Amino acid sequence: MDIKERMDLLIEQINKANKAYYEEDSPVMSDFEWDLLMSELKELEKENPDLVSPLSPTKVTGGKTKNIFKKVKHTQKMMSLQDVFTKEEIYDFENRVKKSVLKYNFVSELKIDGLSVNLLYKNKKLVLASTRGDGTVGEDITSNVRMIENVPLEIDYQDEIELRGEIYMPRSSFDAYNDNAILNGDSKFKNLRNAASGTIRQLDSNIVKARKLSVFIYTLVEPEKHNVFSQEKALKFIESLGFSVNKYYRVLNNVDEIFETIDYYSSIKKSLDYDIDGVVIKVNDFNLYEEIGYTIKYPKWAIAYKFKAEEAITLLKNITFQVGRTGVITPVAEVEPVFISGTTVSRATLHNEDFIRLKDIRIGDYVSIHKSGEIIPEILQVKLDKRVEGLKPFEMITNCPACGSILKKDLDEADYYCVNTNCPDRIINSLIHFSSRQALDIKTFGSKVIEEFYNLGYIKTILDIFHLKEKKIELVQLPGYGIDSINNILNSIEECKEKDLDKLFFGLGIRHVGAKNSKLILKRFPSFEHLMKASLDDLTNLRSVGIQIAQSVYDYFHDENNILFINELSRLGLPTSLTNFESIESSFIIDKTFVVTGTLNNFSRDEIVDFIEKRGGHVVNSVSKKTDYVVFGENAGSKLEKAENLSVKTISEEKFMTLVDENE
Ligand SMILES: [Zn+2]
Repeated sequence: MDIKERMDLLIEQINKANKAYYEEDSPVMSDFEWDLLMSELKELEKENPDLVSPLSPTKVTGGKTKNIFKKVKHTQKMMSLQDVFTKEEIYDFENRVKKSVLKYNFVSELKIDGLSVNLLYKNKKLVLASTRGDGTVGEDITSNVRMIENVPLEIDYQDEIELRGEIYMPRSSFDAYNDNAILNGDSKFKNLRNAASGTIRQLDSNIVKARKLSVFIYTLVEPEKHNVFSQEKALKFIESLGFSVNKYYRVLNNVDEIFETIDYYSSIKKSLDYDIDGVVIKVNDFNLYEEIGYTIKYPKWAIAYKFKAEEAITLLKNITFQVGRTGVITPVAEVEPVFISGTTVSRATLHNEDFIRLKDIRIGDYVSIHKSGEIIPEILQVKLDKRVEGLKPFEMITNCPACGSILKKDLDEADYYCVNTNCPDRIINSLIHFSSRQALDIKTFGSKVIEEFYNLGYIKTILDIFHLKEKKIELVQLPGYGIDSINNILNSIEECKEKDLDKLFFGLGIRHVGAKNSKLILKRFPSFEHLMKASLDDLTNLRSVGIQIAQSVYDYFHDENNILFINELSRLGLPTSLTNFESIESSFIIDKTFVVTGTLNNFSRDEIVDFIEKRGGHVVNSVSKKTDYVVFGENAGSKLEKAENLSVKTISEEKFMTLVDENE
């Protein structure tokens, strides 16, 4: 690939990522990767000014603006800061400053990972809040920003004043949202920044209020108008007006102090209630800014130092393909084992063809791998400077690696599928799923045994599992098993028939139906008979599951073969209805969402949650339009008020008990 081609590829990748990030709220790469692509492109543009494309993303500071919110032109351009990653770049920064001015110091601030906001106050009142947009034109998000608790709607300052800061979602709000998302049938947020930007684009401001965003203010626009002449003074002034200012800022005298502060911030990073992705360093004295100057895109008097993610570089030895139980094909990177975040990693997911193409990952490349916490290791990017000649671009396989059938792909989906229901890998994986801990939990019947029994021809379907006992004489002669282990296997297969229906329902492996959803669906449709009778509308009305799941369940229970299969399972002694569903059916609580507030007489907090959930209802913490009832006890507070404002039904504990009695 020549330089021009490389630059075009970078532009394509960055633009695709920008679109996904700014227009679809669904990032396709980490910020760190984006920064790396961007800095490589900038470097190439600097070295090859004749090759710079007029369409290069380096010409604009963000993505395009969305159309939902009214556009607003910023009075002062919202500039980005130059991102730096190394100590050398921090030295360069200081040298640049040193060249222009004699005496200076710096202010360091945490770089909050959220989205920038511009606030305008006139006659003491907040009149406009806007996003950064492309730096020149943003979106009017005033009505949503008003819902952020620590944004003052009125300040005690008469002059017109403009401020900038970062809207973020506190980790505590994020966790609460994701916990409730499952119950409400919404999808979870992937990370805090996504959560903040997704929330601020909501059309319904009440949703914004419920999700509890927060903001830190760090910039005073045109500070000279307010007789403020340094960043340190600006932060103090902003705070005195009643805004939240992040308390970790420091005044620093030299590069050594900058390095020391970066180490300090890194050490507290994980304990904060918000995400930070780096450190902002600005020259403190505003009077020096004109002297130090600007590039077309950046001020030269400030930089953003970005933290590194936990990653390592290793050799990509091969790309293999896994066939899941639903037939989805997942490419897997087989890498030279490498130690990251406390574990040895030898495989990493490559998600799908688009992912590999976007990153131009090739067998034989050196790649950087990222892993954090529980997350499956992922490839961040290819180390192109280490690429040797002759590596072939990735090509997706056309046939299933297990059964050879031609793979299918829907136009709007990224995944390829093996649609052969007799595909050995699909069957083995669905048998493993059926036996797994969250499904029927057949303890002695693990993946190795299943694979071996499948290959020997003893099990081809789930039903065969329950006929294994008829082949006991043959099985005990298998090398490596013996009478005791075969007895154990056959016993645990028999025991699994005693499990409740939710385990079996999940074990069937119906597309999109997870363990948690299985339980929720059965609370409303507590037997296979109910599920077969349920119309698509009935299932869609179940607010605890989404339309995709409803459709999938409906399709499954309207397929003749599946019905024969279920009847056969029942004949073999497996459950067809929940064991205790009689009491559930008559309750008024089913599928309703409750908020409980105040002190109750008959229940502790845990007891009422349990009581409601046993009857098929949900309990959430905050009142929204989706809430059906607020049950209140003594000393109920703001939740009751909020319910009344939103016209949500409120019932006393006594009334609640009466309703329960009438219904049960
Ligand atoms: Zn196949």
